[in-house]
Amino acid sequence: MSNSAPLIDQFHRRITYLRLSVTDRCDLRCAYCMPERQEFLPRKDVLSLEELHRLALGFIARGVTKLRLTGGEPLVRRDMIELVQALGRKLGDGLEELTLTTNGTRLAEFADAIAAAGVKRINLSLDTLDRAAFARLARRDSLPQVLEGIAAARAAGLQVKLNTVALKGINEGELPDLIAWAHGQGMDLTLIEVMPLGEVEEDRFDHYLPLSDVRAALERRFTLTSTGHRTGGPARYFDVAETGGRLGFITPLTNNFCDGCNRVRVTATGQLYACLGGAEQVDLRAALRSDDPDGALVAALDQAMRIKPLRHAFAIDRPGAAPALARHMSMTGG
Ligand code: SAM
Ligand code: SF4
Repeated sequence: MSNSAPLIDQFHRRITYLRLSVTDRCDLRCAYCMPERQEFLPRKDVLSLEELHRLALGFIARGVTKLRLTGGEPLVRRDMIELVQALGRKLGDGLEELTLTTNGTRLAEFADAIAAAGVKRINLSLDTLDRAAFARLARRDSLPQVLEGIAAARAAGLQVKLNTVALKGINEGELPDLIAWAHGQGMDLTLIEVMPLGEVEEDRFDHYLPLSDVRAALERRFTLTSTGHRTGGPARYFDVAETGGRLGFITPLTNNFCDGCNRVRVTATGQLYACLGGAEQVDLRAALRSDDPDGALVAALDQAMRIKPLRHAFAIDRPGAAPALARHMSMTGG
């Protein structure tokens, strides 16, 4: 294979989207994502700035046009802005979109630099606007910083899309107001089903809320009209007549969307996971740290295309079940 051949898997899906985790560390501890005493990786195991950059260039050379930086919390990594700036220089030269997913706590500090590097849109995770509920769920009282971060991002000209995990007994009753608030500010919002990834203290079954039920409840207040709008991801979008905004649903559990998968994920240690919900993996760090990094990276990406599974196989169907995968979402990024 040449080092510019497109990435096409065994099911003829073309991979054009990379989600790259730059750290497994985070300044929050969202209860559905990680335990309070999460053990983080030793720094030597995490890819350096140069390695992350080289790896991203290897993907872009193979036809990846969209790159999302994630984590953990990407903005807690000290050299993150340098990476955003370096990758921003590839925009229009192979890369069509550079974006990130953040919890927003440090966005007020970095929004201007992110926008200046060429980022146009970001995803921001926000599950509640109630300060006490936020502090309980994220185990840190950081809602004011997040709201400042949102304001700074918008002032910097970044388009902000909110992602909200729908949680029974936690934010279920607040979802209509959260949607109305987001739309009132000109932000789209996407709801996500909680996924069984990694051990946490609570049983996720207790808070799992099928989005089919959420949608039925929302339709008592809002008029939802299905739209063909797509952002290259698995969300299905609806226009909300009453707010004039757009509402997305990501339903890994109630409605599988793997047929159109166009992405792979790489952890901060350079492990490529061919599927968010699968164990299939290729060690890109070993390739990058070998005698022939470029050649080894090409071979590793070809291997990834051979092992990418047709679909994920996770479910939340009974209380007390072990997570489908031991790996936390903060490893593979959202
Ligand atoms: N820290 C950043 C943030 O929160 O936006 C980026 C990484 S975080 C792992 C990415 C997304 O994954 C967030 O929207 C978060 O709500 C979501 N997430 C984390 N664990 C999840 C789980 N078990 N099920 C569903 N979504 C999850
Ligand atoms: Fe941190 Fe994001 Fe996980 Fe929350 S969802 S603990 S912000 S990585």
